[in-house]
Amino acid sequence: MIQDLFKKVVSHSKKYGFIFQSSEIYDGLSAVYDYGPYGVELKNNIKDYWFKSMVRMHENIVGIDSAIFMHPKTWKASGHVDAFNDPLIDNKDSKKRYRADVLVEDYIAKIEAKINKEIAKGRKRFGDEFNEEEFRATHPRVKANLEKIADINKRMSESLSSGKLEDLKALIEELGISDPISGSKNWTEVRQFNLMFNTQLGNISGEEGKLYLRPETAQGIFVNFLNVQKTTRQKIPFGIAQIGKAFRNEIVARQFIFRMREFEQMEMQYFVRPGEEMKWYDYWKTHRMKWHKSLGTSDDKLRYHDHENLAHYANAAVDIEFEFPFGFKELEGIHSRTDFDLKSHSELSGKKLQYFDPEINENYIPYVVETSIGVDRMFLAVMSNAYTEEMVPDASGKESERIVLKIPAALAPIKATVLPLVKNKEELTAKAKAVFNKLKPFVNTQYDEKDAIGRRYRRQDAIGTPFCITVDFDTLEDDTVTVRERDSLKQERMHIDELASYIKKHTDLSTLLTKLAD
Ligand code: ATP
Repeated sequence: MIQDLFKKVVSHSKKYGFIFQSSEIYDGLSAVYDYGPYGVELKNNIKDYWFKSMVRMHENIVGIDSAIFMHPKTWKASGHVDAFNDPLIDNKDSKKRYRADVLVEDYIAKIEAKINKEIAKGRKRFGDEFNEEEFRATHPRVKANLEKIADINKRMSESLSSGKLEDLKALIEELGISDPISGSKNWTEVRQFNLMFNTQLGNISGEEGKLYLRPETAQGIFVNFLNVQKTTRQKIPFGIAQIGKAFRNEIVARQFIFRMREFEQMEMQYFVRPGEEMKWYDYWKTHRMKWHKSLGTSDDKLRYHDHENLAHYANAAVDIEFEFPFGFKELEGIHSRTDFDLKSHSELSGKKLQYFDPEINENYIPYVVETSIGVDRMFLAVMSNAYTEEMVPDASGKESERIVLKIPAALAPIKATVLPLVKNKEELTAKAKAVFNKLKPFVNTQYDEKDAIGRRYRRQDAIGTPFCITVDFDTLEDDTVTVRERDSLKQERMHIDELASYIKKHTDLSTLLTKLAD
């Protein structure tokens, strides 16, 4: 049923021009996608909302747009050359390749499902008296399973941090993990695989000319720390925000735009006084959740997930997870990155990336709290949240099924569509086009005269247009039109002079931004 929703979102995205497979006429390129006419609008609106929520809503955050190619030393300093690896394992029978840690995590998820089943049973049995914490601590099977998970996590984390990958292989064998497709347990050794793509700089051969496609946008911010701080005269704390493409040679790239090899990130690095990072970490954790909830996403679809295995640069990390149709998965990461990056760039470049803090009369390397979210994952979250099938009355009052994308109006690709009631009446179509022309400088508007009015409404529902404006014979008399709202289906009569401000009022980004004020 839930997997069903995923399939529907994927096919709807293609059918209505949101997302196409890259190079589809050549049978596609794995884990690379193109955004179609409605997709690009929705994606731009998501980016716009994020950027404005950072830069416009915080006077101490500024934006940049740094290049994808960076000096190769950048990736040495950041740790990506040495440590941006995923442990991979191949199945000798099926010849399929997997991430060894993901195989183990999937195994853990199965144990968690068992625990949740027991908890649901307990809740049913004890009703209001049920105390989940106590149940987890005392129920023998649940307790044993929780201990098992903790033990597996510990062993995996030790093996990954020590680089003793043979221990991870042993764990997989011990747990009896088999290839999810073939069922075979005939595994190769676990090997590290670097996720960075590389290419060669023009006329320089060998290691020196080796360029990487950036695997994250953050480093473009770190290397510009001084440039930005000096030119904008920011005082700590302040932030730098950036949206841009990133590239990762993912071993297993499935699940549509959830895991791509070319994707886009929205990252913000917040530079703070050392010792104050946990205060700001908590602030950004709360603030980013608020951003997600401002879009009307229900509380039970979002949750925090604290990291147990911290990356080499972090002293605290949490994910905001969203319940995708295939389960709760990371949508955004919030990391306290310490002074790792600036320090490391200072060492390798020989340039002092420091800040003189006039309030305490001290020079220091700032600490950093990062928020990092994938545009494409956010796009998928919006689409899966919005996709709705429901029964509604049609023009004649008969119930019929419609597919509607209940995208928050401020993010919707098209805000309003103008429809002449019928197409073969010249006065009506001329009037409707005039209304369309009047509206288009203010909001993203479409004009549609093809097919019966009911079908045109359905087409707009399917792309999530919040308002349909129908021009009928009365319009010719009194300049009023019918405005139909997508979700409530309420129809309102309105003068054409009021349209622009009405649609703007209900679809403007400010409707979301005002919810974010601290
Ligand atoms: P995962 O554990 O899912 O691989 P990650 O922890 O490596 O993700 P980060 O390095 O924290 O991800 O990147 C920040 C954000 O960038 C993620 O929260 C996600 O939204 C997005 N992202 C990362 N990798 C991809 C990808 N391959 N395709 C699409 N989005 C991605």
